[in-house]
Amino acid sequence: MILTFYGVRGSIPAPGPETVKYGGNTSCIHIRLESGSDLILDSGTGIRQLGRHIVNQDRDLFLLLSHRHWDHIQGFPFFLPVYQPGRKICIYSGAEANDDLLSILRQMDGATFPVHARQLPSRVSNVGHDAMVQRLQAKGVNILTRALNHPGGGQAFRIEEEGVVVAYVTDNELDPPGTITTRYESWVEFCRGADLLIHDAQYTESDMPHKHGWGHSLISQVRRLAVDAEVRNLVMFHHDPERTDFELEQVERDNDAYFRGLRAPSRCIVSFEGLSLRIRASDTDAGRHFLEVL
Ligand SMILES: [Zn+2]
Ligand SMILES: [Zn+2]
Repeated sequence: MILTFYGVRGSIPAPGPETVKYGGNTSCIHIRLESGSDLILDSGTGIRQLGRHIVNQDRDLFLLLSHRHWDHIQGFPFFLPVYQPGRKICIYSGAEANDDLLSILRQMDGATFPVHARQLPSRVSNVGHDAMVQRLQAKGVNILTRALNHPGGGQAFRIEEEGVVVAYVTDNELDPPGTITTRYESWVEFCRGADLLIHDAQYTESDMPHKHGWGHSLISQVRRLAVDAEVRNLVMFHHDPERTDFELEQVERDNDAYFRGLRAPSRCIVSFEGLSLRIRASDTDAGRHFLEVL
């Protein structure tokens, strides 16, 4: 499968001269499956550019939302395929299938955005958990979900196709205060052996303790998870809007120093807009997987 990152920022878009290198758009990742189908993870502002790239490709689209905070849905009204007559777009948001789609898209109510969800010419549908699992199985994808430690809830996804495993865990606090929805040991098990772990790495120690309980993880906690879960590759994601290019470059150097000499992960990438990764299981050497930066 090929993953392309269209938005890697958390909380709010952060354009400007200090974020040019890593990008300012909020969460959106496109996955081209081996079967040729498209999966989209979240519809933050990065989905606008994705829409421009795939508007002329005649594929059904499947959008998985980790949750419905603004930075994960805000780009949807600017996603060109939603204005294409008959274009099928299936959404899984964690809500049940009979929930009003407008409650998911919220901003398309005719008042906060000029186009009402009812006016869309595309065939946008909303599916519940079981239907989502079944539809993806029909595309050759096995999927698991796990509840996030995040205010308002949400879900992580473990996506498996032809032996390749990607775990998408964003807006998740690995060590939250108070009641814990999913314990650290459970995250280790959920991410175990993934070819690629994409995890929220929004905060540094200097952000704490003020932001403890806001539903995001420390970069240092994500490093530890990658080692404990023995993932093959780690991608840090959902950067704080205040984090500058200069600071993220320092995170890269700190990552290199931390992981040097350790068995796993073999690679750690601080995500940036335009990052494209191809992951495939080798057909000549059973059990080995390859990650290629395109
Ligand atoms: Zn977020
Ligand atoms: Zn959130």
